[in-house]
Amino acid sequence: MTTAAADVLDYDEVLERFDPVLGLEVHVELNTATKMFCGCRVVFGAPPNTQVCPTCLGLPGALPSLNEKALESAVRIGLALGCAIRPWGRFARKNYFYPDMPKNYQISQYDEPIAENGALEVTLEDGTAVTVEIERAHMEEDTGKLTHIGSSDGRIGGADQSLVDFNRAGTPLIEIVTKPIVGTGARAPEVARAYVTALRELLGALGVSDVRMEQGSLRCDANVSLMAKGAQEFGTRTETKNVNSLRSVETAVRHEMRRQAAVLVNGGEILQETRHYQDDGTTKPGRIKETAADYRYFPEPDLVPVAPDPAWVQSLRATLPEPPARRRARLQAEWGFSDEVMRDVVNAGAVELIIESVEAGAGADAARGVWLSQLSRVANERGVALADLPITPAQVAKTLALVASGELTSKMAAQVIDGVLAGEGEPDAVVAQRGLKVVRDDGALQAAVDAALAQFPSEADAIREGRQQAIGPVMGAVMKAMKGQADGKAVRALILKSCGQG
Ligand code: ADP
Ligand code: MG
Ligand code: ZN
Repeated sequence: MTTAAADVLDYDEVLERFDPVLGLEVHVELNTATKMFCGCRVVFGAPPNTQVCPTCLGLPGALPSLNEKALESAVRIGLALGCAIRPWGRFARKNYFYPDMPKNYQISQYDEPIAENGALEVTLEDGTAVTVEIERAHMEEDTGKLTHIGSSDGRIGGADQSLVDFNRAGTPLIEIVTKPIVGTGARAPEVARAYVTALRELLGALGVSDVRMEQGSLRCDANVSLMAKGAQEFGTRTETKNVNSLRSVETAVRHEMRRQAAVLVNGGEILQETRHYQDDGTTKPGRIKETAADYRYFPEPDLVPVAPDPAWVQSLRATLPEPPARRRARLQAEWGFSDEVMRDVVNAGAVELIIESVEAGAGADAARGVWLSQLSRVANERGVALADLPITPAQVAKTLALVASGELTSKMAAQVIDGVLAGEGEPDAVVAQRGLKVVRDDGALQAAVDAALAQFPSEADAIREGRQQAIGPVMGAVMKAMKGQADGKAVRALILKSCGQG
């Protein structure tokens, strides 16, 4: 079955007939040194099957024991999401067969998750705030990784062989599950994206994970269903997997809404299935979704219950970072930015860069000017994130300091930034090599002004009579004579003075 364009309904029509319901499941790989239940190291990109032991290979007789650091991260995530931390709970075995899971069960948490009933405040691009309720956050172990050989796209369909690497097996994961998100209407896709963005920001601030979607350390499954306008019960949901970027979260939700609507409008039925996100922005069917009963969950007999000491939990509260939304509001006030300007800064991914530029001595407004105009333009052209440009906040601050002290004009500063980006070295070196400096030698400047006034006698007379708007051609001639190295303001003042107007 393929999904052609005709198989989706126009977005406006979807919204006339249906209300979407969302549910987001985010798996985050913790950045602990070792795995969840054994001492093997957690590393990305090691040669296959070098980070394994009897426990994470599921060999007979091997016994797991819980990584305390992973529990600590789980508790901190729960607290940061405003969840209640369960004082006593067991791990559960989730039984199913999959070739990258040698025990044929995954150690997870089922009805006794470590954290429950929280909320995350998210902000849409236009500043609208939405509260997303969290159902639970629980601990589990990751599976290994399969590589399929012989198919054109690296997927299992058409492959001749599949290789398995157990390095990732047993990596600590936290799964964070939202309650059904209702009432977002047309903005459901945006809310989904904003939620994952906010969660990533929070997890990053907690320092518990690399939160790299492209490397799989943050993974999102998007559940979507539609209910007919006025209906009382939720519709059947699909769960889209492999959504590996923030943009794809939004695209996947929008596509599922349009696809499901087309099925329903044509009298069809939505199957409760997993679907796979495709690079072209569509989804294709995976497997029919099991229900909890299929997994035959039972309490894990090889692990003692998790019973975190309440005093320890309380002490972890003190380690929580300032909530991202509150932090943004504080910075906005400190920097004196309007709501709109702050939103641009956030959307450009420039918050941390401006903080560091200000710490290095720059004014907030000047720093914002550089990061959001010149540098954003370059980042766009190169298709990289602002933070990945080869220039540091300290270099930006240094360049701005040269402008503030009058050694450079802002035009020259832009050239210095270009030079740093081009690998010409530190701002001082670029200034020296490119011979950039504001000419302060009033003698040379005065000579250029006199020459320009002589070149444009009628404009000169007009200025002398007080008509300052005639200054343009004279200014132009002086700037040209000075090869752009004069400060416009100083030139203007000197021309006026020379005409008896200063
Ligand atoms: P599963 O084990 O099937 O992945 P989970 O409980 O882990 O189920 O996650 C299901 C997610 O889907 C949750 O976020 C839940 O709130 C959400 N959800 C439940 N029912 C619906 C529905 N009808 N439409 C959309 N989302 C739903
Ligand atoms: Mg789930
Ligand atoms: Zn191991």
